[in-house]
Amino acid sequence: MTFKVQTGGIGKDVEALLMTLVDGLADLGSALGALQAASNILKNWASLRSDSERAAKLREFNGQILAAQTSAIQANAAQTALIKELSALEAKLANFETWDAEKQRYELKDLGWGAFAYMLKLAARGSEPPHWVCTNCYGDRRISVIQHTNMKKGEGYGYFCPKCHNEIRPSTQSFDGDSPKWL
Ligand SMILES: [Zn+2]
Repeated sequence: MTFKVQTGGIGKDVEALLMTLVDGLADLGSALGALQAASNILKNWASLRSDSERAAKLREFNGQILAAQTSAIQANAAQTALIKELSALEAKLANFETWDAEKQRYELKDLGWGAFAYMLKLAARGSEPPHWVCTNCYGDRRISVIQHTNMKKGEGYGYFCPKCHNEIRPSTQSFDGDSPKWL
């Protein structure tokens, strides 16, 4: 997998993924170590002189096998977590690709009086009615259409982003009647 996207968001996911991988590898290492110890006990079995020595070694052997099993189960859990994290990461990457295509359709417009919003580029407008897209949400990789509404009961109407409640006050030149105008 190649990571071409330049973003702070994905770095943390990759870091978490690596941590899970390291945990899983450590568990596998422990399992292998315990199996190695168990195998050494078997190799030296012939040299054991007494029943009590053999009984002690057998307990040690069982202990190592149990340790190997526990570590293998933990490694398995880490693998399951790893698969889950990987698929979440893949979904995120797919979202980034979709967003990369989506964001190309818009450009930042000066609505006058210090108000800014994104609007569809000429070529992308098709039959869509003129509308403003929230700059705040655009920065968060989301298209939110500004609406003429009141966000709180008792407050006057304004041009708000329904998602992040960002309010803009465009100049009269940005309107066609009471609706946004393509700029
Ligand atoms: Zn917004």
